Amino acid sequence: MNPNDKPYDFVLFPDGSPERRSGDGHYRFDAERLSGVLKLDLVAHRPVQVASGFLDVLRMKGQDVVVAREVTVRGSVRVIPGSSLKGAVRSLVEALSPSCVRVTGWRSRSAAPRRLNPCSRVDALCPACRLFGMSGRGRENYAGQVGCEDAVMVDGKIVLVRVPLLWAPARGRRGLPARYLEGREAKGRKFYFHGKPARGPDARIAAGTGSVFRARFHFANLTDGEMGLLLVALGQHPEYPFLLKIGAAKPVGLGSVEVRVRRITFLGDLRRSGRAGGGEVLESPELREKMRQWMEAAASENLLNREALEEVWSILRQETLTRTAPEGPY
Ligand SMILES: [Zn+2]
Repeated sequence: MNPNDKPYDFVLFPDGSPERRSGDGHYRFDAERLSGVLKLDLVAHRPVQVASGFLDVLRMKGQDVVVAREVTVRGSVRVIPGSSLKGAVRSLVEALSPSCVRVTGWRSRSAAPRRLNPCSRVDALCPACRLFGMSGRGRENYAGQVGCEDAVMVDGKIVLVRVPLLWAPARGRRGLPARYLEGREAKGRKFYFHGKPARGPDARIAAGTGSVFRARFHFANLTDGEMGLLLVALGQHPEYPFLLKIGAAKPVGLGSVEVRVRRITFLGDLRRSGRAGGGEVLESPELREKMRQWMEAAASENLLNREALEEVWSILRQETLTRTAPEGPY
């Protein structure tokens, strides 16, 4: 592969330190905050590798090769694992907000700038750790205020796609290759472009283009701006809409998914409905307008880095689906 044809680009780290504060917890629901369930459709614009509950992972450490293959289970439910979805959204939240670096995209955070070291205390959490949690030492663990379940496939076909073999990037003592570095520090977070799937000998089972998955995100005690940040990371910003990249084989053109927000159900929101346990439901067009206000609040609460949003958009906007993924071994 020609290094100039790289299937990814970097979203630069911000200059400042993470904006940290105490987490709001989830032991009680605050009537002034947002708690409930966000229901989404995930629409595949490229095949998405799915799981059926069993993964066969083959590790050959000497050669730094990691191959993961699905074990087919007849009649099973096809899902995008909640952990894959959460990981993808968390990495975007980290990139878009003044947050610490936990998800780097190359499994080694040794070269991430020290000022962005992971949060370690519950009373000083960055936006990404407040939303998605962190585990520090001793009792310093935080479950996070946003969680998601496995996204269940409700429409579409299972297909066999043949992609090039993926070689895990060298890691360990040698650290990152020089082209990822600026001095001794990593330049930023790596995100893969969308693209046309590259062809190769590695057969993978995937949900075909056009498949639809139902996903649910639970949220507890979010500020308006935190909700807005979550929505921007789901590609919902009106000026900078983008598709997510989820699951395996991202470098070779799989995993491009559009998020469509269907509805939000609030848990007993006194402020909005005047009654406890109400479960107010918000759908479009009211939902669209509310989403716009929350995303504006993300900016006014200083949770959204506009430059990072422009960079993420330039990598993940829908137009990059027509890029040709580089052929040959990776
Ligand atoms: Zn953090």
